[in-house]
Amino acid sequence: MAKHVPIRMCVACRKRRPKGELLRILLMPEGFRLDPTGKLPGRGAYVCPDNPECWTEKKLRRFAGARARALSEALVTLLGGTDGQNTHLPAG
Ligand SMILES: [Zn+2]
Repeated sequence: MAKHVPIRMCVACRKRRPKGELLRILLMPEGFRLDPTGKLPGRGAYVCPDNPECWTEKKLRRFAGARARALSEALVTLLGGTDGQNTHLPAG
């Protein structure tokens, strides 16, 4: 019996994957916030947590525009950085 699995699309590479395999990005009026738990209320977008290509500013620009750089840095910090402390993005 197939269980229903929600499918979401990565905003960087546009690949469709089960929601649980993707990292949620919460869309806030003042910017983005990474939501590794996937449980924060609000509108979300998704990105591959296992593909550094999807964390690059260039790939994120279509989705995040001027904030792509801050989002990229936050993703690298959370997923690929040495200290995972900064999951809050500076506004603007
Ligand atoms: Zn991706």
